[in-house]
Amino acid sequence: MKRIAVLTSGGDAPGMNAAIRAVVRKGIYDGLEVYGINYGYAGMVAGDFRRLTIDDVGDTISRGGTILYSARYPEFAKREGQLKGIEQLKKFGIDGLIVIGGDGSYRGGAALTKLGFPTVGIPGTIDNDIPGTDYTLGFDTAINTVLESVDKIRDTATSHIRTFVVEVMGRNAGDIALWTGIGSGAESIVIPEKEFTMEEVVAEIQEGRARGKKHTIIMLAEGVMSGNEFAEKLSKFDEFHTRVTVLGHVQRGGSPSAKDRVLGSIFGYNAVKMLEEGKGGICVGVKGDEVVFNDIIDTLENQKHLPLLSLYQINKEISF
Ligand code: ADP
Repeated sequence: MKRIAVLTSGGDAPGMNAAIRAVVRKGIYDGLEVYGINYGYAGMVAGDFRRLTIDDVGDTISRGGTILYSARYPEFAKREGQLKGIEQLKKFGIDGLIVIGGDGSYRGGAALTKLGFPTVGIPGTIDNDIPGTDYTLGFDTAINTVLESVDKIRDTATSHIRTFVVEVMGRNAGDIALWTGIGSGAESIVIPEKEFTMEEVVAEIQEGRARGKKHTIIMLAEGVMSGNEFAEKLSKFDEFHTRVTVLGHVQRGGSPSAKDRVLGSIFGYNAVKMLEEGKGGICVGVKGDEVVFNDIIDTLENQKHLPLLSLYQINKEISF
C-alpha cells in the first residue's frame, strides 16, 4: 500500500474534518501518500483528486462541515458509475480508499469492495443511524446544538405557558430526538421506533399542566411526521397554545464537540491501519470503549441500527 485516498459523501457532519486530518497525518506518518477526493463519489468519477499535505489539514480539527466537500451522486448506485470510479482511482495510482459518510456512502464502499477495490468506511452522519457502532461522527455535536436551542425555547415556553413541538432530524432513526428529549427534559418524545397515540401525548401534556407545569416540550423525530402535521393533530384535542420549531440544518453545523473530534481521530487512524493491513471491506466503529471493525457488506445487509431505547422508558418515568 503506497497511496490511499479519502472522501466524504452524503450529509456532512461535524467531526468529518477530524477524521480526514487523522487519515492524512497517520498516512504520512507511516510513509504513505494521501489523496483527497472532492465532492464524494461525484468527484471520484470526475477525477477531482488532490494530494494532501500535513499543512492542508492544519487548523481544521475545530471546523464543522468537510474540507473535501460532499455531494449526492445517485449514479454511483449503478455499476457503470462504480467502474468509472475505479478507473479514476487506478489512474491516480490509489491502492485503497477511505469513505466517510452515512449508510448510502457505505453502500458505495461496499460496491467498490465487491468489485475488488479495498475500501474502509468511517461512520459520519449526525443521525447516528449506522449499524455496527454505538456512535457516528457528528451525533454528539448535533445533540448539543439541539439542546442549546431547546434551552432557549424552554425559556419562552415557560413565559407564555406554551406547548412546543420541536422537530429534529432523523428520517429513519430516533436517536437525536431520544437523547435531546432526555437532555432537555421534554415531556414527550416521539420517534419512529416506538408506536404512540396522540391520546398518550395529550395525557402527558395534561398531567404536567395539572401539576402546574408552565411549559411542555415535545421532541419529535422528523421521520414520524412533520412538526406542523403533529401540531395539527394535537390541535384537535385541546387548546395547548402549540408552537412548532423546526431546527433544520443548524443541527448539521458548528464546531465539533470534544467527543466528535476524538472519535474522528480514532476512526481516521484506525481506517488507515486497516488499509495498511490489507483489510478492505471493513467499517470502523466503537462499542463501549472499544474500537470495532465490521465487515461492511454484512453490516449493511444483516445488521440493523437501534437507538438506546431504554432512554425512552427512562424519560417516561422522570419527565411527567
Ligand atoms: P449518506 O451517506 O449520508 O447516507 P446518501 O444516502 O445520500 O447519504 O448517500 C451518499 C452517496 O452515496 C450517494 O449520493 C451515492 O453517491 C452513494 N450511494 C448511495 N446509495 C448507493 C448504492 N446503493 N450503491 C452505491 N452508491 C450509493
